[in-house]
Amino acid sequence: MRIYFQTQKKMKPNANEFLIVVLGGPSEGESIVIHLGDDRWMIIDSSKIGKEVLALKYLEDNEISYDNVDIIVCTHWHADHIYGIGEILKKCKNAKFWVPIVSQSKMMPYYFVKKIKEKDIHDFETVAEEYAYCMKLANKRGKLEYLFKDGNIIKYRNSNHNISIDALSPSSGMVSKYQKLWASRKNDQFAESGVDPNKSSVAIDISIDDKLHFLFGADLECNRPENDTDFENCIYKCERRKDVGWCNVCVGSSTYDFHGKYNYIKIIHHSSKTGYCPQLWGTKVTDEVVGVTTVFSKDGLPQNDMEVLYWDRCKDYYVTAPPIQYQQAHQTTDIERMQKAGVVSDIKVLPRTYGTVASKYNIEECKYEGTELGGTAFRFEEKHIYKFG
Ligand SMILES: [Zn+2]
Ligand SMILES: [Zn+2]
Repeated sequence: MRIYFQTQKKMKPNANEFLIVVLGGPSEGESIVIHLGDDRWMIIDSSKIGKEVLALKYLEDNEISYDNVDIIVCTHWHADHIYGIGEILKKCKNAKFWVPIVSQSKMMPYYFVKKIKEKDIHDFETVAEEYAYCMKLANKRGKLEYLFKDGNIIKYRNSNHNISIDALSPSSGMVSKYQKLWASRKNDQFAESGVDPNKSSVAIDISIDDKLHFLFGADLECNRPENDTDFENCIYKCERRKDVGWCNVCVGSSTYDFHGKYNYIKIIHHSSKTGYCPQLWGTKVTDEVVGVTTVFSKDGLPQNDMEVLYWDRCKDYYVTAPPIQYQQAHQTTDIERMQKAGVVSDIKVLPRTYGTVASKYNIEECKYEGTELGGTAFRFEEKHIYKFG
């Protein structure tokens, strides 16, 4: 008897479908592959499991040409968003490479740009090296672009529908912080102190005909101290904290203010407390909102109390993988139990190393068509409340 766990299914959309595939494993990492329509593709961030670059695996499995990737976004340079992005960029030769404006060399002279040496692509020792490699390669191709708040990036039409892609961040406050920071540094030592990649992350807004709205929040946390758990009242404090982070999006962003409620959110910062904005979730999401989160197990994200909160707010709340802590507590699967008891033999359990959450929207009818799950991904339900309730 042979039992195989389901592997990742083929999920190639037709020309008229807007498809969002969120990929991530149980340890950490986030990569989003988006079909914009007409076989044009966009990739936001990258994650690797072993040697496998998840976004490239998705493209290969579905026989999608690298040449059809128009845009690669690196929201910020943390490992869980960057590993493998150099390999993606190398293969997708037509893609623009979008990075937060704080990465401009005049703002980050030592941190990235002077650090790069010519290296084999698979041999990056640090995140900074991979990031610098990408900036250099994209710049050589004339494809490097810097993103900032309310930057209107792309507007185009797909079968008579208007699709717009806009950046909601980073803020000008973050830019001046980086300018001051680098002006005060005298040597070219690699130092992270004072740099805040999460609060200078790029958050992306995609809208179709101003009827469907999608938010890809990256790790753009609220500008709230980590120990301030009073996030329900945060709405009154945003004004005072409006310089940077997600709070800056809430206060005076023409894109955010102008666009309607979100139908879909790739939830900010792996469903952490500081990624939760009551203003957003109280006023800017539809009743039908689909929420998707990825995992950052090192910091215990997503936290189960936050999962419960998002589960309550979203029509459907999906997680790419159970966090490691949960897996350890529930290690023995039914099949393993059967195997141990000698009920079945010769079982090959394919490693369920990562999950895919693929949500489809029909561009022609501006309508949600459903979400398919693969690998470790699951829809959060009552049985997943394991610490609370
Ligand atoms: Zn992250
Ligand atoms: Zn981060």
